[in-house]
Amino acid sequence: MKKFFEEFKKFISRGNVMDMAVGVIIGGAFTAIVNSLVNDIFMPLLSLITGGFDIAGMSVSFGVGDNAATLNYGAFLSAVINFLLIALVIFCIIKAMNTAKDKMLSKPEESKAPTTKKCPYCMSEIDIQATRCPHCTSELP
Ligand SMILES: [Zn+2]
Repeated sequence: MKKFFEEFKKFISRGNVMDMAVGVIIGGAFTAIVNSLVNDIFMPLLSLITGGFDIAGMSVSFGVGDNAATLNYGAFLSAVINFLLIALVIFCIIKAMNTAKDKMLSKPEESKAPTTKKCPYCMSEIDIQATRCPHCTSELP
């Protein structure tokens, strides 16, 4: 049992636990934003396009009366649509972030100064600072 707590202490003090906690918390807040975007912006637009048609309310009932079994396939459909919209939104956000990252990282390539030169006697590629060619041993100006 003592070993168990020692391992637990090691796990907690490793530092990346805090990173993970921050990630989970930010992920939770992010989920709320995406959910709101889907539920408050996209879903009303979708219902505008479909003429105010309530997808979530679609159902089929078997039998009659209040106790009849109902197949709420509308709720299932709206859950699927929700998922697709959330996936789309997250995809767009990640794509935008990747594009921004690429732009930040890709600095204009500096034209590298040449590090080699050609020996005028044997035409070999040699170091730019060489005063004597290593191939033909000619002295270089
Ligand atoms: Zn040479």
